[in-house]
Amino acid sequence: MNKLENYITGKWITGDGDGQTLYDAVTGEAIVAATTKGLDFASILQYGREVGNASLRKMTFHERGRMLKALAMYLMERKEKFYQISYHTGATKADSWIDIEGGIGNLFANASLRRKFPDLPYCTDGDPIGLSKGGSFMAHHLLVPKEGVAIHINAYNFPVWGMLEKCAVNWLAGVPAVVKPASITSYLTEVVVKEIIASGILPEGALQLICGSAGDMLDHVMAQDVVTFTGSKSTGLMLKSNKRILEESVPFNMEADSLNAIVLGSEVTLGSPEWDVFIKEVRKEMTVKAGQKCTAIRRIFVPEHLLEDAYIAIGKSLAQTTIGNPLNEKVRMGALAGLSQREEVKQNIQKLLAASQMVYGSLDSIEVIDADAQKGAFLSPMLLVNENPFQADVVHEVECFGPVSTIMPYKDLHDAIALSKKGKGSLCCSIVTNDNRIATDFVVGAATHHGRILVLNREDAKESTGHGSPLPLLIHGGPGRAGGGEEMGGVRGVKHYMQRVAIQGSPTTITAITQSYQPNAKGIQSNVHPFKKYFEDLQIGDQIITAKRKITSEDIDAFAELSGDHFYAHKKDTDFTGTMFEQQVAHGYFVLSAAAGLFVDGSDLGPVLLNYGIDELRFTKPVYPGAGLTIRFTCKEKLPQDPKDENDIPKGIVKWLVEIMDETDEHVGVATILTMVKRKN
Ligand code: NDP
Repeated sequence: MNKLENYITGKWITGDGDGQTLYDAVTGEAIVAATTKGLDFASILQYGREVGNASLRKMTFHERGRMLKALAMYLMERKEKFYQISYHTGATKADSWIDIEGGIGNLFANASLRRKFPDLPYCTDGDPIGLSKGGSFMAHHLLVPKEGVAIHINAYNFPVWGMLEKCAVNWLAGVPAVVKPASITSYLTEVVVKEIIASGILPEGALQLICGSAGDMLDHVMAQDVVTFTGSKSTGLMLKSNKRILEESVPFNMEADSLNAIVLGSEVTLGSPEWDVFIKEVRKEMTVKAGQKCTAIRRIFVPEHLLEDAYIAIGKSLAQTTIGNPLNEKVRMGALAGLSQREEVKQNIQKLLAASQMVYGSLDSIEVIDADAQKGAFLSPMLLVNENPFQADVVHEVECFGPVSTIMPYKDLHDAIALSKKGKGSLCCSIVTNDNRIATDFVVGAATHHGRILVLNREDAKESTGHGSPLPLLIHGGPGRAGGGEEMGGVRGVKHYMQRVAIQGSPTTITAITQSYQPNAKGIQSNVHPFKKYFEDLQIGDQIITAKRKITSEDIDAFAELSGDHFYAHKKDTDFTGTMFEQQVAHGYFVLSAAAGLFVDGSDLGPVLLNYGIDELRFTKPVYPGAGLTIRFTCKEKLPQDPKDENDIPKGIVKWLVEIMDETDEHVGVATILTMVKRKN
C-alpha cells in the first residue's frame, strides 16, 4: 500500500513501518497508509525555528500579505484537483467548497489584512502612553513575531480549511507552521501541501507537514512556540497538560466539543418569515458535512407551544435531504469521515436516547443513492425531542458529531438564556427573532457562554453567512467546554503569534523604533517642502513650521456665507451669556482649511497626487478673531499601496500630523490627514 509523505526539514519523506490504513468514507476501500515512524520531531521543530522563522520574521507584514495572496491565487487555480480527492472523505461538492475554497478564502482575507499593519516586520499595539509632564518620556506597546513555530494539531472534518485558517494567520504574523492533520483525512491535506511546496511561494521552512501520529513532538516544544488543537475534549485536555507545555509556558489554543444551540424567538409565529428562516437554518446545520462541523447545531430551543409544530416541520425538511455517494449530483448529504466515526456517533445517540425520543430518522435504516449503506459511513439525519431540558443534563453534555440534534421547549427568554448556557460554553449560538428587544436581551444575557452569536431574521437571512460559518475577520472559539480558545478574528488573531513588549523612552526614540511619529519627538527640518518629496524620499518626522495667519471676524463671516454654516457661535451679534464662548468663534472646519492654506505647497505638479482624507480631528480651544495661527506639519506614517495593474501610478499613502497652534503656542486643533503620494518607480 502507498504511504503518504511527510514534508519535513525541506524534504518529502515517508515514515517507517506499515502505518495506519486510511479508508474511502464512501466505499470503505483502503486507499493509502499514514506513518510518521522514525521521524525526528525535535529536529523538525528546530528546523522550523531556524530556517522558516528566520526568513518569515524578516519580511514585512505587507510582503507576507502579498505572499498569502499569491498562494491563494495559485491554489485556486488548482482547486479541482482538491475537489476530486475530497469526495473520498464523504464530502459533497458543497461540503468541499467550505473546506477548500473556504480555506483559500482565509488566505485572501489575511492577505488583505496587511493594510491594517505597517510595512515593517513588527507593529505597535494600542495607543501611545504619555508618562511625563514635560513630554520627554513616554511608552508604547510593540508586537514582534515569536521566534518559534506554530504547531497545529487539527481535526478530521476540515483537512484543508483546518490547515489554512490557522496558517494564514501565523504566516502573516511572521511565524512558520508544522501542521499535523487528523490522520484519517490527511491524504487531502497532503495533496494541498504538495502544491503549496511546489509553488515555491513560501520561504523554505514556513510549512512542514506530518501525516500520522504526532509521536513525541510536544515533548520538544519551547517557550517561543504556539500550539493549537482542534478535536475532542479528552485529547485536548491530555495535550494541554503536557509537562513540557506547562514548563515552558507554551500558549495552547484549544477548540474542543461544543453543544451549539439555536433559539426560536418567542414572538415568532407559524408560517412567518422567521419560522421559515429557522427551519431552513436547522436543516442546513444538521446536514452540511453530515453534521461533522464543530459549529453545527446540536440543541434547538423553541417556545413550548411550538414544540410539536417545530419538530414536524424540521422532520419534513430533513426528509428532502438525499443521502449517498457525494459524486452523484442528486446527493445532498454524503458520508461521515469513516466507519469508526459513525460507530461513535451511534453510541452517543444511544446515550441521548436514555432521556429523549427520536422524532425523525433512524439509527439503522437509511436509503442511499449510488452507494452501499453498510460499506460507506452513511447515517440518517436524526432529530430527538426532550421535553424536560432542565432535568436532562445528558443533552447538554454529549456531542454527537454527526447529523443529530435535539429539540427542546422553553417557557420564557430567561429560560432560553439559561438553557443555552447549560452547554457550559459553545463556539456559536443563534437566535431567530425579528424583535430587537428580545435580540438584545438574549445577546447580552447569553454572551458570556458563546464565542459568536448570530441574530437571524427576515432582514439579514438572505445574505447571512449562517450559523455554522466561522469567518476570518471574526473570532472563532468559545469559553469553557468549547476549549477556551480564540483563533482568527482579523488583527486579533495575528497577535496570538506575536510577543507583546512595553517599550519606554523619549518620543524621538519611540518614533525611530515604531516608524510612527510621536508628538513631542524631534522633527527633521529641511529646505525642501515635504510635499515636494516622493514617497521613498519622505522620512518619518519630516517637518515644517508654517508662517502665521491672523484670523479675522470677516474671515469667519465669509466662511459662514460660503459653507452655509450659520451656527450661533459663528455670528458676531450673538449674546454669548451662558454659552461656552466669549465672542464670535471661528468654525472648526475653517480653522482646518486655513491650516491647509498654510501647510499645502503644490501650485506646481508634484509628487502629491491627492488629499485622501482625515483620520482624526479634534478642536481643543476656541479660535476668536485676532488669533494668530501657526501649523507644525509632520510626516507621521507611510503606508505603501500595491498598483492595481501595470497602468496604475505607483504610489503610497502618507499620514501627516497637523498641530494647529495659536499665538500663545497652545494647541487649538490636532488632526491626522492623509495624502496619496507618488513613488519614483
Ligand atoms: P481527536 O481529539 O481524537 O483528534 C484530534 C487531533 O488530535 C487529531 O489530529 C489527532 O491525530 C490528534 N491527536 C490525538 N491524540 C494525540 C496525541 N496523543 N498527540 C498528539 N496529537 C494527537 O479527535 P477526532 O478527530 O477523533 O474527533 C473526535 C471528536 O472530536 C469528534 O467526535 C468531535 O466530538 C470532536 N471534534 C471537535 C471539533 C471542533 O472543532 N470542536 C472538530 C472535530 C472533532 P490522529 O488523527 O492522528 O489521531
